[in-house]
This record gives sequence, C-alpha cells and structure tokens, in this order.
Amino acid sequence: MTEFSDEGIVLRVEDRDTSDKYVTCFSRNHGRVRFVAYGARYQKSVAGRILQPFAHLNLELQTGNLIDKLRSCELQSLPVKYDFKQMAYAAVVTELTEVFTADHEPEEQLFLLLQEILRLINKRNPRLVTLLYTVKLLASTGFRPQMDECVLCHKGWADETKMFFSALQGGVLCEQCGKDEELMFGKGARELYYSLAKFELDKPTEFSVQGSDLMQLEKALLKFIVFQTDKPLKSLAYLSQIGL
Ligand SMILES: [Zn+2]
Repeated sequence: MTEFSDEGIVLRVEDRDTSDKYVTCFSRNHGRVRFVAYGARYQKSVAGRILQPFAHLNLELQTGNLIDKLRSCELQSLPVKYDFKQMAYAAVVTELTEVFTADHEPEEQLFLLLQEILRLINKRNPRLVTLLYTVKLLASTGFRPQMDECVLCHKGWADETKMFFSALQGGVLCEQCGKDEELMFGKGARELYYSLAKFELDKPTEFSVQGSDLMQLEKALLKFIVFQTDKPLKSLAYLSQIGL
C-alpha cells in the first residue's frame, strides 16, 4: 500500500452502510480515483462535510486492492454556488467525466478543463457550456465522432446538402448511406460542433448559436454517448425529466 496526495474534483458521492462514503474524484495527476472515506457519514466528520459533488479538494490517499482509502482531505478552493438548473448541468459534466475516464490514468489537461467548465457553468449558458465540455471530453478520451465525411463512403459535406447522424456507425452519413437513419444532421450543427471543438477557454471567441443546430448536435451526441456507454446516464434522464 502506498500513499499519495493529489488535488481532485468530486464527481460522485455514494453513502454506504451507516458510516462510510464512497467517493469518485477526477484528480489532477492520477486521473479518476475512487476511494472510501471511513466514518465520513458521522456528523462530527469534517471530511464528510466537504466530500460533496463538485468540490475541489486536496486529498491524501492510500492505494488499495479494490478501492483507495482516504487518509485526509481539505478544501482546495471554495465551492461554486449553483442554482437548481446549473446544478443539473454540472451533474451531467461530472457523470460524463466518470463514464469516459479510467482509474489512475492521468489526464491533466482534462482535469484543468473540468475545473474551468465547472466555474463557467454559473457564469454562462449552462446548456452550451455542458455541450462544449461534451465535445471536448469525447475528443480527448478517444471517443470523437466522425464529423468530417460520411463514415461509410467518405463523401464530404461539400457534395451533400443533407447528412444524417448514426450512433451505430459513430458519425455522419451522406444522404445515400443514411437513408434509413432518423437523425438529420445539418451543416449548422456540424459548424457548431467544430466551433466548440476549436473553442479555447483561455482565448474565448464569439460565435452565434442557432437553437435548432444546438438541438441537433445535442441529440446526435446524446445518442452517440448512450451507444458508446451502453447504459443510460442518470443526470441526462434527470435533465429531461425536469424539462431543461
Ligand atoms: Zn455515404
């Protein structure tokens, strides 16, 4: 058993038994880490109070065979305050991070992006910020959908007025190859995808967003994610349930 320290953002907290919390974090230098915080459910536990979703913590951990163990933790920075809607989107961001990353596989750029995105959620349109994160997360974890040309016949957008999106094929299809597909995917949605993929958080540029393009891109990525992960995401079900 070795000890290590790192900073991490809490993705999920699960209460177990009467006394313990099981926590999933995305850490700066160790990627996703899952650990148990013994006794964290007791009222007097300081760790228990700060082990909350979206918290940014300094962690002292001990590696374990199945799951790491928490030695101690403290707040790295004060938590961002979210309203109801912002919190629902932040939950999508953390759940997607958990699903598309692996334990102890460091990805510092993704950590920095996650940190910035969770700050932006209460400053900008949370729906667009979440979509921005989704596009970047898929690209950085090797799950980027093929948007440049038809996945099957490689016909480019220049030859097509109409394209479709196929979660099964993992990208866009031309009119011919996609005739049985339900999900239309227009040039606007594709342009939005590229604007988001290229968007640099430290050098933000303005771009306009059409509601219909946003919806098309969201739908396509949602289908793609459900197909890739093969399980429904709780946070997305919740979003649609509350009508956001
Ligand atoms: Zn084709």
